Order: sequence, then C-alpha cells, then structure tokens
Amino acid sequence: MANKVLVFLEQRNGQIKKASFEAAKVGAELAAKLGIEAEAVVIGNEVESPEKVGGFGIKKVTHLKNALLENYSDAYKELLTSYTNEINADYLLFGNTAMGKDLAPKLSAKLDAGAAMDILAYEVEGENLKATRPVYAGKALINVNITSAIKILSLRPNVFNAGEATTDTAEVTVKEVEVTELKTKVTELKKAGDKLDVSEAEFIVAGGRGLKEADKFSLVEDLAKELGAAIGASRAVVDAGWRPHSEQVGQTGKTVSPTLYIALGISGAIQHLAGMRSSKYIVAINKDADAPIFQIADYGITGDVFEVVPALIEEIKKVKNG
Ligand SMILES: Cc1cc2nc3c(=O)[nH]c(=O)nc-3n(C[C@H](O)[C@H](O)[C@H](O)COP(=O)(O)OP(=O)(O)OC[C@H]3O[C@@H](n4cnc5c(N)ncnc54)[C@H](O)[C@@H]3O)c2cc1C
Repeated sequence: MANKVLVFLEQRNGQIKKASFEAAKVGAELAAKLGIEAEAVVIGNEVESPEKVGGFGIKKVTHLKNALLENYSDAYKELLTSYTNEINADYLLFGNTAMGKDLAPKLSAKLDAGAAMDILAYEVEGENLKATRPVYAGKALINVNITSAIKILSLRPNVFNAGEATTDTAEVTVKEVEVTELKTKVTELKKAGDKLDVSEAEFIVAGGRGLKEADKFSLVEDLAKELGAAIGASRAVVDAGWRPHSEQVGQTGKTVSPTLYIALGISGAIQHLAGMRSSKYIVAINKDADAPIFQIADYGITGDVFEVVPALIEEIKKVKNG
C-alpha cells in the first residue's frame, strides 16, 4: 500500500521554479488517485513564498534550510534521501529541469528506486505506475512500468499544465539542517540576465542559419518581444557564435515544450526536432518548401523570413492595438 507522494520544489536564487508548481499539481492529483497524502520539500537558504504551492493542491511544505544550501550541491542528494526515508515517501516527483535531471537519478540510485525521466504522461495501474517518455531523440514514445517500492518521476516542463494557482496556501515548516562538508561548492554564479529561460517558456521564437548573420537575429528578437516569447536557436547559429548555448534547442541543447514554437530559417534537422517536437503548436517559416521542419509544423509559411516576419510583426501590433 502506497504511503506518500513527495514533490521536490526547486529553487534558484530563492525563487521556486514554474516546473516545480507543475510537479506539485501532478503530485496532488497522483496522491488523490492513490488515496494518500502529498507533501513538498524545498532545499535552500532564503526561499520566497514556498506556501504558494498550496495553490496547486499541496497542503504541507518542509523547507530544509542552511546558508550553505543556497546553491545546488551534492548535499541536496543526501538531504532529500534522508527526508524521503524520514517521511516514508514512496512517490518522488521532480521537474525535468537541469537540476531535476541531475538529482532524480542520484535519488534513484540511493533509494533503489525505479525512475522514469522526462515523462509526458502517467497512469496508475494498481500498485504499478506506467509512465510515457520519449526515446530515440523524441522519434518514439515508450511506456515504462515502475514496479519498485519507491517510484521516481521527472516531468517534462510545460507538458503538465499547472493552471492558475488558487488562493490556498500550504503550511510551511522550516527545519534548520546541518551541512558539514560539501564535496563541491559554487564559488561564482554568472547570471544569464533576466531573459526568459527557453526550457520553461510558454512561447518561443527560434532562429536558424536562414537568418544569414548574427546582426540579423534582431528579427527573431523583435518577434519574440512582440509575443513575450523566449528566444531559441539552432546549433548552427550557436556554433557560429551568434547566440549563447543557453538558447540552443535540440539533442545537445535544451528540450522545450512550449504552447507555441515559431521556427525561423531552421531546416528541421532530426537533432533540432529532438528538442522541440513535443511543442503544442509549431509554426515554421522557411523559404524551402521541402525543409523537414514543415513535416512536423502545424502551420507553415514558405517564404523569406526577411519579408514574412516584419509583416507578421505589423499584424500582431495591429491586433494588440485593437
Ligand atoms: C551529434 C549532433 C548533435 C546536434 N545537436 C543539435 C542540437 O541540439 N540542436 C540543433 O539545432 N542542431 C543540432 N545538431 C545540428 C543539426 O544536425 C543541424 O546541422 C542544425 O540543426 C542546422 O541548423 P539550421 O537549421 O539553423 O541550419 P540549416 O540546416 O543550414 O538550415 C537553414 C534553413 O534556413 C532556410 N533559409 C535560408 N534562408 C532563408 C530565408 N531568407 N528565409 C527563410 N528561410 C531561409 C533554409 O531553407 C534552411 O532550411 C546536431 C548535430 C549532431 C551531429
């Protein structure tokens, strides 16, 4: 008989990530299906408003606190393992963010737990949990049955909609914990600015080599600004030094699942598709009608980005101005 669902709330700079609220919502739903309780845990120093998770159905949050926990480190793995054992949790949920991708497999090893990473869906089947996850760079989906006593899921950001938070708040317990020695310690954190993180964005405008040169990428920026979207890039333009690697979408970049993905001058190589094919609506603008991106696009325009995009921006402005 299952006992408890534990949702890991990820904080960066004291702010809880959107992907964690999605995990909270799923955690609360999963617990309701299993007829058990769900709670959340956040590890850090100062954490802003962990009680907000109550708006996504979780009633209790424990904040494991120490000044040394401000940044992610190996201590997170140790503390989360002890806490899981302490409360006897048997379902652990993570957002499949950079931190979730690192932490979930470590917990799986520590707790001898089956883990399904980057899942797109799940079903409860008696004592077992069936999760659906992409394989072969997103070319196929597999169903995985987790039969171990402890089960770990990491959820692809933006796939499980957290919806609007209710005004409910969770009860927060702050536990000062001891952190004796860190094997690794963050000595400097370079912020990528206040730009939207492409892996969690709801709208993305991405550009490829079809933009011709670095300066012309301003076209992508202009459209992104109009839509309040994050900027994405193909590897070709990252390798060329036009854009930072943090914006690269694909097999060796980030995996994204926005509601809207607009690909400008991107051919749609399999390695690029691997990172964005689960987007809800894909719009492609490419002057080559045979470009592979059109095979997965919901809407496609065969045309020159330098003609189509300015016209598109004008139309968006008109709509916005009523
Ligand atoms: C191991 C490995 C990992 C990789 N990982 C990634 C990854 O993570 N992400 C990734 O993106 N790639 C990755 N790649 C590279 C990938 O194979 C492609 O080379 C890359 O995605 C191509 O980028 P692109 O579409 O911008 O450029 P291109 O393939 O050169 O395509 C440019 C497109 O722009 C169009 N175009 C040109 N001019 C215009 C215009 N004026 N208006 C409209 N359209 C125009 C062209 O028709 C063309 O379709 C990886 C490759 C390998 C081998």
